[in-house]
Amino acid sequence: MPCYLTYTNAETHRIINENLDRSPLVTGDVVGVGPRYCPSIETKVMRFADKDRHQIFMEPEGLHTREVYVQGMSSCLPEDVQIALYQTVEGMENVRFMRSAYAIEYDCIHPTSLYATLQSKDIHGLYFAGQINGTSGYEEAGAQGLLAGINAGLSLQGKEPLVLDRSQAYIGVLVDDIINEDATEPYRMMTSRAEYRLLLRQDNADLRLTPIGHEVGLISDERYKAFLYKKEQIKIEKERLAGVMVKPTKETNDYLISLGTTPLESGMPLAQLLKRPQITYANSACLDPERPALRKPVWEEVGIQLKYQGYIEKQIAQVEQFKKMENRRLPVDLDYSAIDGLRLEAVEKLSAIRPLSMGQASRISGVSPADLTVIHVYLENKRKKASHES
Ligand SMILES: Cc1cc2nc3c(=O)[nH]c(=O)nc-3n(C[C@H](O)[C@H](O)[C@H](O)COP(=O)(O)OP(=O)(O)OC[C@H]3O[C@@H](n4cnc5c(N)ncnc54)[C@H](O)[C@@H]3O)c2cc1C
Repeated sequence: MPCYLTYTNAETHRIINENLDRSPLVTGDVVGVGPRYCPSIETKVMRFADKDRHQIFMEPEGLHTREVYVQGMSSCLPEDVQIALYQTVEGMENVRFMRSAYAIEYDCIHPTSLYATLQSKDIHGLYFAGQINGTSGYEEAGAQGLLAGINAGLSLQGKEPLVLDRSQAYIGVLVDDIINEDATEPYRMMTSRAEYRLLLRQDNADLRLTPIGHEVGLISDERYKAFLYKKEQIKIEKERLAGVMVKPTKETNDYLISLGTTPLESGMPLAQLLKRPQITYANSACLDPERPALRKPVWEEVGIQLKYQGYIEKQIAQVEQFKKMENRRLPVDLDYSAIDGLRLEAVEKLSAIRPLSMGQASRISGVSPADLTVIHVYLENKRKKASHES
């Protein structure tokens, strides 16, 4: 179905500006900040006053209706103003309204009142997930629902809870972000929020998470067996490629030149050659006469792991540093106000959030590295004193 693109113009903007005092966003009846990636048309006209037009997509709602969704024109202006401003837009002069745009506001809890398991700090056994935690989006809600559900189940079985950390999964990033800082606008999971993006790849999602899924009882033994087989095949193929020596024959070098890479002067393991941007697992088949027939997900993973090995190892080293910090647990009942030298702001934030680890504490806004040192020294002294007494 064709979609159409059109634009607002000076006349549209004039009508909006003249009626701003009737917008609940401006009058203060709606106080929430909307998601920054889909501001209303009146917000766009106010915020980007230098722009003389804004684009509008007209998307048919279905095959059997004449209704069109007007993307880019979200608004909470009164209906008569909406009709007037639509009529100024090229292609919409004769518009008829089936439903007008409206603004919504949601209530949410303070997600800082949750543990990383998504269990309420105040009410044992109560878990929160999704929009009620101040996030927006299908995946955000689904991901939290999964984690909260897993933890509710584990808790009923009397098992250890599941916490995913920032280096393991986007779910870990999301939960860590929302429980450590009260969002002032709907939270969305962006890849740019993750510091270990090189590890949090789509291709290795099963390698990262299937063992965890199996452990918590969500992955069947059959699927887990298939997974272990794939993992083993990846390992074997990587080891094999490290032993395949590519010799600098004329034929090989001509081929390398044709791929736009430099010829070889001496023999090189294929695993090494695969690090070159121009060489892929697929186009190196002719250099590898004994290559086994593998399934695509296996050889694709082999190719990725070999090509980016250096960068991946660097990031793994960073993760290890992070884990050291993360693993330094903090007692949940720690009385921060009793710690000498801790700044008041840090005491307030730490007492409210009650982080489970030094790592989590370090990500709370208002808690400085100096505060962390003070806590560390305090806990060390306490530990020494306790071991002295015993
Ligand atoms: C018009 C619109 C378009 C959107 N477009 C997108 C999009 O393109 N992409 C995207 O990622 N996200 C989009 N979102 C956001 C996304 O839909 C939500 O963030 C997500 O669905 C929230 O899921 P949730 O499970 O937290 O809440 P909900 O899906 O709201 O689920 C809450 C459920 O609880 C039920 N409930 C409420 N009170 C009670 C009660 N007392 N007892 C029992 N049940 C109760 C409700 O009926 C509802 O079924 C859109 C939202 C809207 C409104």
